[in-house]
Amino acid sequence: MNRYFDFNATTPLLPEAREAWLRASERHWHNPSSLYRDAGIASQMLEAARERLAELFGVEAERVVFTSGATEANNMLFAAFAGQRTAISTIEHPSVREAARHWTRMSEFNAHGAMPDDAALVSVMAANNESGELLPWRELAARCREAGIPFHTDATQWIGKLAADFSGCDYVTGSAHKFGGPKGAGFLVLRDPDECIRLLRGGPQENGRRAGTENYPAIEAMVTALETVTASMTACQASGRDAFEHAMQASFEGLRIISAEVPRLWNTSLLVMPRHENLKWLTRLSRRGFSISTGSACSSGKEGSSVVVTALGASPEELRRVVRLSGGWETTKEDWLDLAAVFAEVGAELDAGGKG
Ligand code: PMP
Repeated sequence: MNRYFDFNATTPLLPEAREAWLRASERHWHNPSSLYRDAGIASQMLEAARERLAELFGVEAERVVFTSGATEANNMLFAAFAGQRTAISTIEHPSVREAARHWTRMSEFNAHGAMPDDAALVSVMAANNESGELLPWRELAARCREAGIPFHTDATQWIGKLAADFSGCDYVTGSAHKFGGPKGAGFLVLRDPDECIRLLRGGPQENGRRAGTENYPAIEAMVTALETVTASMTACQASGRDAFEHAMQASFEGLRIISAEVPRLWNTSLLVMPRHENLKWLTRLSRRGFSISTGSACSSGKEGSSVVVTALGASPEELRRVVRLSGGWETTKEDWLDLAAVFAEVGAELDAGGKG
């Protein structure tokens, strides 16, 4: 039984990725920059991993830079546009919004509305981490290409959940731990095979684009994880999540589902509970072994990202009652229905004024 419903926060390491990591760590632990034979083999394995990742995305391998994750990749990109005008959507992850704010002259726009035409870079995420909303990144990429504006998509939540052909995008970021890979590995796809931008300075690794000894075992595990989930992706459907939402609507009058009217990831449900604060739901579900999230709309109100949940359509008053459920590749309809049943149980307890 799966009781983990926080896959948008992070995912457990896939057995295939673990195997790949162990094999790489045992056999190819050498520094890929060293000059003896074993190091040369590690370097070749690293380049082969780059080719495999690039092939999955329909881009040239020379455009892929391995990073420590999506946060670093997003910072690396915006640092390259330092001082320039950039346009990002109103619901970007903080690693895009804060990087854009720090490095560039950033403005925000509604991804479904008019796109600013005076930006040096447009950045719109592929899928939102809170509500699962799918953004029109393909259309925006095409419009930007026509207008000659570089287009970036933070595809961290899309990759591994939906088919990913990024050949129409100039820049793409992603992170291994969102699709069954290890934490601390990710990538930035660049616009041009010869492009040389850098954030971390030091040695000449990653073609001079990112200094620091390459984490080949984590990279190998990341690419293996992506190949594994890509092979089973077509079987993933929203039917379990949808059954959960129907059951929740039957139990809770006045329940609101955010982004219900737009296309969403098959695994995500962002709800405004009709009563009781989100941390009360979270604590009681946690006691029963279920892991859920308040999204970034924590009722403490301290998290900067509540601005995103507000942009998604929750009122400041509703923010305190927002919960996020996100399943995984193995989560079944029964798992989702078990979750709905436990919500009903907890609801009755909270209504009765249960302590603790
Ligand atoms: N972008 C999005 C859309 C995310 O969901 C996340 C992770 N929550 C990140 C970027 C940051 O990824 P990482 O933890 O790998 O830095």
